[in-house]
Amino acid sequence: MSCPICGAGHDSIRRPVEPSAMEVHLCTSCGHEFAVHCQYPIPEEYWSKNKIFLGTYTVPNENEVAKSYIKLTKILRYCEWFQLSKLEQQRIEGKKTWELGQFLDVEVERIKEECRAHAISICFVETN
Ligand SMILES: [Zn+2]
Repeated sequence: MSCPICGAGHDSIRRPVEPSAMEVHLCTSCGHEFAVHCQYPIPEEYWSKNKIFLGTYTVPNENEVAKSYIKLTKILRYCEWFQLSKLEQQRIEGKKTWELGQFLDVEVERIKEECRAHAISICFVETN
């Protein structure tokens, strides 16, 4: 990645310490700041620095399936690793427990708050 303004190389670009989906990179050569959409595999040091949780949801009864699905897609759609297609697949298969995938500790805090507001309960288990 080089600076789009002055063309300075990789060594001149300062990146934020914490990787995220949308990062602001700074060119130390010309001072230009630019937003970069990053899709990271989960780097190893990130695993050790941040807690990763596995989320599961248990459908309370048949009548709640459609409602739960809508609530979950609303609450989880901006999460880094959430995959809607996987959730949909489990709903179609009629699973009673839906595996929601991996979430960062910072996401879990926000999700729990939204769950309270939507009267829904997701179970989170720490993986590391
Ligand atoms: Zn530059």
